[in-house]
Amino acid sequence: MPRLSEVIAELDALWPPERAEQWDAVGTVCGDPDAPVRRVLFAVDPVRAVADEAVALGADLLVTHHPLYLRGTTTVAAGHFKGRVVHTLIKHDVALHVAHTNADTADPGVSDALAAVLGLRPVAPLVPATGLGRICELDEPETLRAFAERAARALPATAQGIRTAGDPDALVRRVAVSGGSGDSLFDAVRAAAVDAFLTADLRHHPASEAVQHTGLGLVDAAHWATEQPWCDLAARQLAEISDRRGWDLEVQVSTAVTDPWSHHSASSAHLDTGAPN
Ligand SMILES: [Zn+2]
Repeated sequence: MPRLSEVIAELDALWPPERAEQWDAVGTVCGDPDAPVRRVLFAVDPVRAVADEAVALGADLLVTHHPLYLRGTTTVAAGHFKGRVVHTLIKHDVALHVAHTNADTADPGVSDALAAVLGLRPVAPLVPATGLGRICELDEPETLRAFAERAARALPATAQGIRTAGDPDALVRRVAVSGGSGDSLFDAVRAAAVDAFLTADLRHHPASEAVQHTGLGLVDAAHWATEQPWCDLAARQLAEISDRRGWDLEVQVSTAVTDPWSHHSASSAHLDTGAPN
């Protein structure tokens, strides 16, 4: 059985920590470097449900995409939910390791996993300087509506589902995808001359301006749903490493839906148009 430090060394080779953004907090949050590792669980969010799942599974290592403490902390007291996660994990000998923006920019990384589940072929990074996002070409053009339906079928179910902006009948052939929050990437999206952009967390003003200025089609999914496919990719990558090194690791992906949005109500109050009832 490998030690935690040996497994982490392989994970750092997949997602080099020095490629993380300056503001990010990647790496090992808790865990004994000398502890043996047999079971590994991958998840997007280091939240209570996922920590409990890791314990129930008998995992020795939990790898998440999002950091537990992005801005640092002065306490891990269990009275706060983050401290509770730390206590739960340490009590049950579960290490926690984070690969965030270093996994976003890796090749293959978060946006490659997203493109793959959508059945898209990446041809270039969206932001060449950082390796962030992917430009993809569809084999056959399809309408923006069909492209959104493709995402609705392929991505894990969430209350939000898929939102679309732009002409639903416009033809889409060249698209950009970026897992996680993507509305800081509009300059790169415009420069890439794509027909549509699939990402998460798009806000009113950037979305409105993009649609008004360029006729770009926007497809907005839940943040968690755009990153969850990375867990499957990462699990496969670690399973291959385990085979190659004769480690016999049991690698699994969390079944918890950790999208914080849990219910969707379609709004129904119509503005008064002045037309007779
Ligand atoms: Zn994210």
